Amino acid sequence: MTMIGDDLQQVKNRIALACAEHGRNPAEVRLLAVSKTFGPEAVREAHAAGQRAFGENYVQEALDKIAALADLRAELEWHCIGPLQSNKTRPVAEQFDWVHGIDRLKIAERLSAQRPPHLPPLQVCLQVNVDGGANKSGVPPDEALPLARAVAALPHLRLRGLMAIPEPAPDFAAQRELCLRARAVYDAIRAAGIDIDTLSLGMSADLEAAISAGSTMVRIGTAIFGGRLRKPA
Ligand SMILES: *Cc1c(COP(=O)(O)O)cnc(C)c1O
Repeated sequence: MTMIGDDLQQVKNRIALACAEHGRNPAEVRLLAVSKTFGPEAVREAHAAGQRAFGENYVQEALDKIAALADLRAELEWHCIGPLQSNKTRPVAEQFDWVHGIDRLKIAERLSAQRPPHLPPLQVCLQVNVDGGANKSGVPPDEALPLARAVAALPHLRLRGLMAIPEPAPDFAAQRELCLRARAVYDAIRAAGIDIDTLSLGMSADLEAAISAGSTMVRIGTAIFGGRLRKPA
């Protein structure tokens, strides 16, 4: 197996172990491979090892990669996981399958209006700011429900759930506590009758805490592709 294939397998083992430890069904935790800063060949290698869902943060870098991997397009699922500015929504609506970082209705409205009608609805998650960091992206927890209602009503989007990026915490219990804040918002939206099924939570360093708190999708970069040496242009 290739190195990326080995690393993917190790991440799957970590997910399986965390699920066993916390009474979760591993079939309910999807693995999103975060390929930002890595080239199309790395994605090809992960694809050859069976990986299908890939996350990207930077729109132009992602568009170049999607184009370079056009031959695999039907098999790949592209997720936009970075903050999204309103002047970049059109290519995202046209090229991606999922968007995780929605924290304003205006962005969601643009994505819905710009989603080509021949494509399935764009699958979206609202980003929730569970730490209260003022300069962080994400809607405050108490504004998530009204935003969810508004986004769920847009015609060319399908609201799938929530995404959060908790700050690194000093230990497992503290990390789990931050993850549980996202879970509480997720449960409240479901309890309000909005049909969501995705809690996008957990990265290389905190996937176990995220799974213990109910994550249904972990977004893993470093543990699959290695350390990122550069920020793309
Ligand atoms: C980069 C990134 C990840 C992956 O982080 P790793 O620590 O490399 O696993 C996950 N989610 C988001 C939103 C990211 O920007």
